[in-house]
Amino acid sequence: MDDADIAVVGLGAWGSCALWTLARRGVRVVGIERFDPGHSMGSSGGTSRMFRTACLEHPGLVPLARRSLELWHELQAAAGEPLIDASGGLLIGPPDRHIIAGTLAASRQHDLPVQVWDAGELRNRMPVHAGLPDHHIGLWEQGAGLIRPERSIAAAVRLAEAAGARVHTGTKVTGIELVSGGAVVSTPVRDLRVRQVVVAAGGWLGSLVDGLPVETVRMPMTWFAPPADPERFALERLPVFMREMDDGVCVWGHGILPWSGPHDGLVKLGLEDSDGRFPVIDPERFDRSVSPADWDLLVDRLGTAVPGVGALPASVSVCMYTRTPDNQFLLGRPRRDPRLVIAGGCNNHGFKHATGVGEAVADLVMGRSPACDLGFCDPDRFG
Ligand SMILES: Cc1cc2nc3c(=O)[nH]c(=O)nc-3n(C[C@H](O)[C@H](O)[C@H](O)COP(=O)(O)OP(=O)(O)OC[C@H]3O[C@@H](n4cnc5c(N)ncnc54)[C@H](O)[C@@H]3O)c2cc1C
Repeated sequence: MDDADIAVVGLGAWGSCALWTLARRGVRVVGIERFDPGHSMGSSGGTSRMFRTACLEHPGLVPLARRSLELWHELQAAAGEPLIDASGGLLIGPPDRHIIAGTLAASRQHDLPVQVWDAGELRNRMPVHAGLPDHHIGLWEQGAGLIRPERSIAAAVRLAEAAGARVHTGTKVTGIELVSGGAVVSTPVRDLRVRQVVVAAGGWLGSLVDGLPVETVRMPMTWFAPPADPERFALERLPVFMREMDDGVCVWGHGILPWSGPHDGLVKLGLEDSDGRFPVIDPERFDRSVSPADWDLLVDRLGTAVPGVGALPASVSVCMYTRTPDNQFLLGRPRRDPRLVIAGGCNNHGFKHATGVGEAVADLVMGRSPACDLGFCDPDRFG
């Protein structure tokens, strides 16, 4: 007798949404998480994540983002609490560079409602970006905004349990063995026998499944207290943005959140890992304290990126994410194995897609074709 039909290992952003979808489809599913859902030890901590449908990372992600948005609203309604805030989002940079060119390509291909602002219009509309050079432009997506990661994960797990999923928290999976007709998932307490296993272990994916082309990368997040005039840095005046500088360095962030939480009154800023500058780490043992190297470059950019925000961070924390050679996700069955589905390799742009990924994973597990074509995420694509 199997313990469940499906085990989902890792209940972070992607695993919690897979668990929720499977449970509400009536599948006998068990979720296993080494910490508590909504923790800050993996890739999903830090109070906010940007949502946008204009996915510059790959045009094929746009349908996934659109479907995810519908599902975020379903999750929010089922949870009965605010999870997603469509306060708009801005992408800024030189028109011929990665951020703007990629966003325009995705927008044109999928006919997305993105407004193009020249530097003058952008400065008028959002004076916080007054230091912008004349040759930069802004792309404004009204439907973009922020998701609350910790609450979303906790809500998905709670709703999955209410729909019949069994959940083991504080339980580290120590091994996954594929056996005849299923898989054995080992924990320090006991082994679970299931028909299929979904591995959504984020930065720890490589330690549970051999042979995947993933690296885990350490990435700091920084919050600043404006020394004067905090109103100037409210979210409506500094909506979530990504800004590419002329030298390719990319700053992202957003203004002070209108809801209360651990980062009350603070502006969030960080650097994109645009040139692979963040170090590869062992997720089991790495320094979670902040080094001067972590934020020297960011502090260097602050005067131009967001003038007046302050020179010293009020709060810094270290997160991690998983990198693949082409910066695209790993979603599917490695070696077409009917016992195993992988959902990982988030490449630092995966949170917004979590609900859609959860649905795609449930489709794969149940032998259905996912609604969006995710062939470019095939885990076997590197040969
Ligand atoms: C600083 C930063 C900013 C980001 N900003 C954005 C953004 O604005 N927009 C966006 O879309 N994306 C963003 N991302 C990326 C996004 O946060 C990630 O893509 C997403 O959180 C990945 O979710 P995950 O489920 O793969 O990993 P996680 O949420 O980390 O989940 C993995 C889970 O597996 C569990 N686990 C691991 N090993 C085991 C084991 N052996 N046994 C049991 N459980 C285990 C972990 O405890 C964890 O809960 C950002 C990432 C970072 C680091």
